[in-house]
Amino acid sequence: MTRLDAVLWDMDGTLLDSEKLWDLAIRELAGELGREMTEEIRHALIGASGPNALRILFDGLGLEPTPDALTDAGEWIERRVSDLFHGPVPWRPGAQEALAAVRAAGIPMALVTNTKRSLTEYGLNTLGRENFHASVCADEVPEGKPAPDLYLRAAQLLGVLPEHTVAIEDSPTGALSAEAAGCAVLVIPCEIAVPERPGRTFRDSLVGLTTTELQGLILERSAAS
Ligand SMILES: [Mg+2]
Repeated sequence: MTRLDAVLWDMDGTLLDSEKLWDLAIRELAGELGREMTEEIRHALIGASGPNALRILFDGLGLEPTPDALTDAGEWIERRVSDLFHGPVPWRPGAQEALAAVRAAGIPMALVTNTKRSLTEYGLNTLGRENFHASVCADEVPEGKPAPDLYLRAAQLLGVLPEHTVAIEDSPTGALSAEAAGCAVLVIPCEIAVPERPGRTFRDSLVGLTTTELQGLILERSAAS
């Protein structure tokens, strides 16, 4: 019997409307570096992880990514994003209710984020630590999204098979990561479009999401394979 053993949630852009905070901080950093952000770089950065994100930014801005420059930029962005995350971060539409519905059904949940632990802790202040059996951050695995490491680690911590989980993601990078790990993927695009692919299910928002619907994603996939 194929069943839904866990729901794995992305944080930025999926549960929290925090991509906007990142966007603001990155834009300011580009200014600090004497450059201006472009839409192209902004899109490439959505869902990217710390070190990768900085390399994409430096490449896009035409700056040399020396180790010192990357370290400085990393520290700058962490300070700025910490400031921005310090207050309550707005939820994405329907996210709070969807999280509560999965919890009420007794299905274990994990937070699986490309954001580092120190900043994720601010996010958890809004999300409620008690909602998650585990949380995994980009600085706790060898490689962040789009590599599968974060999702594999989350499934391991929950003691479930990735094939029996649904990952909920907003970005192409996140969707690739969850697919590579073997999770069924529900995509709710936030800032940018996510390409349609076999096995990806889309929704406009989390409003009205039910556990029956999530269970259906696992059944559909096992029927298709
Ligand atoms: Mg995201």
